[in-house]
Amino acid sequence: MTGEQQETCLFCKIVRGEIPCAAVFESDDFVVFLDINPVSRGHSLVVPKVHWETLLDVSPDSGVSLVKTIQRVGSALMKATGAEGFNVVQNNFPAAGQEVAHVHWHIIPRFDGDGLKAWPQSGYADSQDMAELAGRIRAAC
Ligand code: 5GP
Ligand code: ZN
Repeated sequence: MTGEQQETCLFCKIVRGEIPCAAVFESDDFVVFLDINPVSRGHSLVVPKVHWETLLDVSPDSGVSLVKTIQRVGSALMKATGAEGFNVVQNNFPAAGQEVAHVHWHIIPRFDGDGLKAWPQSGYADSQDMAELAGRIRAAC
């Protein structure tokens, strides 16, 4: 990452305290704050303090800290909002809906019968189509 990217990045500015946020948790590795346009009340963003653009850039060493943070905040959101569940969503690249090019995890409180549905699902042409694609992905792993 260039220094210039970190200089202008919205979430780096929030991490540095240059832009205000409604913070809910902070550790050595992450800041967590409320999304300004929530899917549901309490919708929070888990943001690493390091400027990584997508999940492909993230240090795997931060995985334990990330899971601990999501567990802690997910549990707190359920207590504080009365939510009965939560989704963890993470978008990579604009094609997948990533608007801020600083990797982050959405934690979205959910309620029984709230009617939210992320994506319509489809199917494969047939089992051969499905098996061929699985083979191509295995080869690329
Ligand atoms: P993405 O689409 O990149 O996965 O998610 C970016 C999220 O950042 C969006 O849900 C959007 O509402 C949120 N967001 C954008 N600008 C700001 C801001 O200035 N402050 C806060 N708290 N959230 C923001
Ligand atoms: Zn950044």
